[in-house]
Amino acid sequence: MKLFGKGSKLYSILRHKCPRCQQTDLFINKNPYNPWTIDKMPHYCSKCGEDLQREVGFYYGAMMVSHATTTIIAVIVHFTVYHFYGWDIAPQLITLLSILVLLLPLVFRTSRAIWINMFSKYDPNALQNKIER
Ligand SMILES: [Zn+2]
Repeated sequence: MKLFGKGSKLYSILRHKCPRCQQTDLFINKNPYNPWTIDKMPHYCSKCGEDLQREVGFYYGAMMVSHATTTIIAVIVHFTVYHFYGWDIAPQLITLLSILVLLLPLVFRTSRAIWINMFSKYDPNALQNKIER
């Protein structure tokens, strides 16, 4: 199993690509900071036919991934701010809230990408084996 580059889970997760063919985007608008299209995904991959919606409420599970990701970010921010300001609560809160608000769209989309990659794997012959819908 490849760790980096095309064919790896990280490639699909970090670039928000279809987990099966890694050719098309998971989200309709590439810009995660557009609040109207942040969660808009195609139902099926246009190149390989992978079902990107799976079932109603499929992405509720991505909230658990988002929770874990946010916790990791919060711990990193805490220790970084602690290094400069100690236990002072104001710098901790202001820094953490600012960073979480700024990263929210990226964490949201990356959590969905991680979630669907748990259930789908890369197929180098996905385009030849297209699932007809
Ligand atoms: Zn695909």
